[in-house]
Amino acid sequence: MDAKRLSVASALLTWYDAHRRDLPWRAKPGETPDPYRVWVSEVMLQQTTVATVRSRFTAWTTRWPTAKALATATEADVMAAWAGLGYYARARNLHAAAKAVAALGGFPRTEAELRALPGLGAYTAAAVAAIAFGERAVVVDANVERVVSRLFAIAAPLPGSRPAIRAAADELTPTERAGDFAQGMMDLGATICTPRRPRCLLCPVRAWCDAFATGEPDRFPVKQPKPDRPQRHGTAFWLEHGGRVLLHHRPPRGLLGGMRALPTGPWTDEPPGLADAPGGTGWRLLPATVEHGFTHFRLQLALAVGEGSGHEPGEWWPIAELDGAGLPTVFRRAAEALRSGR
Ligand code: SF4
Repeated sequence: MDAKRLSVASALLTWYDAHRRDLPWRAKPGETPDPYRVWVSEVMLQQTTVATVRSRFTAWTTRWPTAKALATATEADVMAAWAGLGYYARARNLHAAAKAVAALGGFPRTEAELRALPGLGAYTAAAVAAIAFGERAVVVDANVERVVSRLFAIAAPLPGSRPAIRAAADELTPTERAGDFAQGMMDLGATICTPRRPRCLLCPVRAWCDAFATGEPDRFPVKQPKPDRPQRHGTAFWLEHGGRVLLHHRPPRGLLGGMRALPTGPWTDEPPGLADAPGGTGWRLLPATVEHGFTHFRLQLALAVGEGSGHEPGEWWPIAELDGAGLPTVFRRAAEALRSGR
């Protein structure tokens, strides 16, 4: 392992020196990295692509070039400037941590001290400590996770394999230039060791890559197969009278809570047939069904058509204006199938 560690680190750093991406938050060779810029970019990149962050980062740091400047901003301005960059909690934490940094008179330098700032997670603390201050910290983002799991052909599936990947990344991280090593791994993952069709022939660490040796490098990282979602059944009822159709409101809590819907009974393991028809007469089931996937189960809706008196409780909605009822997708599709099949 020691030989692999030294070889991978040295080959990667040589490659990084020649091929590093030019990013607006990165110090140029010979410049001292600015922890504020490293920190802001790492937080922005957690949910947003490099392409988007490029322009947003420049706008942000032009407006607030230092943690001290950010500390004096109003919360409303910070929130507005964050719009479109994902969870607002991250912006709130950036603002709170900027105030803490301003109160301390500057950035703390170690991973442990950085971790104590409000909202600074393990990943960000490690990235700032390594990239801005050269501390030997282990930085594992999604790119690094992929590269490491390939270098060692880690067969256990994610997310359970994360501790093993972290331990392997720890083994690989050199004592010197840990920040450049982390950025080199990120760049390798972003440009060469991509999720699909990694460009192994251009890879500086191919000689030590166990996944490359298997001949199927993009099999790694292994992902846990998604468990099959259970199948549920229901019936959507189309009750019509005088050019109107009966709609119900879903119960306020739960799936599609409070939304208008076609009447339907509880969704069950077996097709419920006409058991939950909302009054009316002459019910018949259509041959067609509608399938819909929810996060935790798949639903098959049978479709039933009946004649109403206009007095059944609910909302009698003009059929010609059904598009304006705001039906959720599954009921919109059921309504379309029912209208054409009735
Ligand atoms: Fe990734 Fe291929 Fe390089 Fe292995 S050899 S690290 S799979 S690009």
